[in-house]
Amino acid sequence: ATALAACAPSTAAALPYQDPALPVAQRVSDLLARMSLDDKIGQMTQAERAAITAADITSYRVGSVLSGGGSAPAQNTPAAWADMYDTFQRGAMAAPLQIPMIYGIDAVHGDNNVYGSTIFPHNIGLGATRDPALVRQIGRATAEEVTGAGLDWTFAPCLCVARNDRWGRTYESFGEQPEIATAMTTVVDGLQGATLNGPASVLATAKHYVGDGGTTGGTDQGNTQLSEAELRAVHLPPFAAAVQRGVGSVMISFSSWNGAKLHGSRYLITDLLKGELGFGGFTVSDWAAIDQLDGQPGFTQAEVATAINAGLDMIMVPNDWRTFITRLRAAVQAGQIPMSRIDDANRRILTKKFELGLFEHPYADRTYAAGIGGAAHRALARQAVRESQVLLKNAGGVLPLAKSGGKIFVAGKSADDLGNQSGGWTTTWQGASGNTIPGTSILQGIHDAVGGGATVTYQRDGTGIDGSYRAAIAVVGETPYAEGEGDRPGSMSLDATDLATLSRLTAAGVPVIVVLVSGRPLDVAAEVGRWNALVAAWLPGSEGGGVADVLFGDHAPTGKLPVTWMQSAGQQPINDGDGKAPLFAYGFGLTYAGSPADTVAPSVPGTPVASGVTATGLTLTWPASTDTGGSGLAGYDVYRDGAAAGTTATASYTVTGLTPATRYEFTVAARDAAGNRSARSAALAVTTAPGGTGTGSCRVSYSTNDWNTGFTGIVSVTNTGTAAV
Ligand code: BGC
Repeated sequence: ATALAACAPSTAAALPYQDPALPVAQRVSDLLARMSLDDKIGQMTQAERAAITAADITSYRVGSVLSGGGSAPAQNTPAAWADMYDTFQRGAMAAPLQIPMIYGIDAVHGDNNVYGSTIFPHNIGLGATRDPALVRQIGRATAEEVTGAGLDWTFAPCLCVARNDRWGRTYESFGEQPEIATAMTTVVDGLQGATLNGPASVLATAKHYVGDGGTTGGTDQGNTQLSEAELRAVHLPPFAAAVQRGVGSVMISFSSWNGAKLHGSRYLITDLLKGELGFGGFTVSDWAAIDQLDGQPGFTQAEVATAINAGLDMIMVPNDWRTFITRLRAAVQAGQIPMSRIDDANRRILTKKFELGLFEHPYADRTYAAGIGGAAHRALARQAVRESQVLLKNAGGVLPLAKSGGKIFVAGKSADDLGNQSGGWTTTWQGASGNTIPGTSILQGIHDAVGGGATVTYQRDGTGIDGSYRAAIAVVGETPYAEGEGDRPGSMSLDATDLATLSRLTAAGVPVIVVLVSGRPLDVAAEVGRWNALVAAWLPGSEGGGVADVLFGDHAPTGKLPVTWMQSAGQQPINDGDGKAPLFAYGFGLTYAGSPADTVAPSVPGTPVASGVTATGLTLTWPASTDTGGSGLAGYDVYRDGAAAGTTATASYTVTGLTPATRYEFTVAARDAAGNRSARSAALAVTTAPGGTGTGSCRVSYSTNDWNTGFTGIVSVTNTGTAAV
């Protein structure tokens, strides 16, 4: 992870654990045999940087330090971070056994605490890309930036499967279906690199184990009331995938499962995660989460014992670490925690420290600082922004906009606001509105796209618009928040400022293109009829200018909804397949007429079947209640008369030429007469039948207005992935 041991004390007569030629397991055993109980307790302790000094680390043998979001060093530069890291590390290396500390940070969309870093789209936007290879590259770039600021460990990726978009952490989720987060565990490979002690590798953390996105009412840190089968089916798969990729740490969720706090669940942590899934890394608690085990403020010796016995290896205390050390020692001495559990926790933590190469290279590797916020990473972020845009409505083909001729009006509180574009976890925990970080605003992207070819007028609140403009672009949506702050009631609606801006634009009688900057679907059903186009931009980050690449057609939209878009906030929770009629279905996303065929990255890895598979008998069945008829294409024109948007039809087909005992996944693509296209992936039934024939069905849906010209039928059924079962 880090390099350049220039400041490390000389270890001429190396002990076995200090010998890099020996296998890690042997080094761990050797070191463990030399450690006192206090040394071991220290390794299990993680303190907040503002609550501890280097001298404390030496005396108390504290093994880990973190910066909670928002407690960044004053200057917040890469050098300030690396200096701080080295100061703490010198404290660790001054203790007799010279066990390096490990420093954790929430680098959840780039190294977001460091000023000038590249801020990537939040996970919800990455989920819309359906591009796991891109996400792996983002992990790599983030690891380089984290390393450049001296740190070893990120509390990412968040693998939550957000099932209720009221939840203030929805944007930290790749989407509502386990298949997306599972596919996106490629980010772990990117963060950790090929080997943990390779160049610029940081330890990744799969969080928050498990069911954090499934709480009743979408309450942050709430209770997930689910059968075990459903917990395993919906919330566990991404963690299983991350474990298979060798994720180094797992953070336990604040939430409860059927009323019992995760932090006390020996079944879920020890039996399921470490036992059944075979997780070999270490677990870390969430922020002061052991305080919550008995419902009383603060933590008792009993709570410490409960958490450690459940399988917690390291506790993010984070402030009252002295008390934690005292209580953990007392619990061990009283026989409440067996020594074998303490040794197991230490073995897990030390193994990762050895694997990261920290013993050989304990100090910050400043060579990577030069790449922080560099052109290569920003280009990657811009690609991610382009790929994450989901085109939800494009009446009359108003998009893409021509780059030359006439005048374009730009308005909205988020058009020129990098803070809003980036959301929470940007410089500070909650993030903040304003041009607080370097980057490219959406407005700047629009200016760059047209160059001198058209006049661009920007007026934040929309005043000054008149009928002389060729189009108006409104960039509106949410302002930054993090965790439970996003749970506030009413927060899924456009605010009064946005509504006032929008009504000025729609009153002008020019085509209105709405770009929604938000961490989740907003309640737009009552408004969308007045807009000509709607683009979900999510929280694009510092390279939000990439939104303009889509608006002006440099990149045809390819993003697909990672969540079901509700008709109204009252529909939450709403998820694919739960029978509620959404405004836009999970997987929905238009592209421009004439652009390359829709592709939906398979959630089943494997090689697509190239030939010999044919689909026949394609039919679309619309729910009778929404089939208003009228176009002569029976069943295909449910929106003609303004029937409910988002109504889904079932596409049925028979495929032949399949290999038995194989799971296939298909994309069904369809288009309307104007060439607008909709697609959605479907997991097709496994076939084992002789002859390899299977039937599949998936749901296809369209939004109002885009399909009111009549439907020309299914264009194609394409196999996008296959795997042995
Ligand atoms: C969050 C975690 C985060 C931790 C450290 C907690 O409040 O739930 O996601 O990693 O703080 O900042």
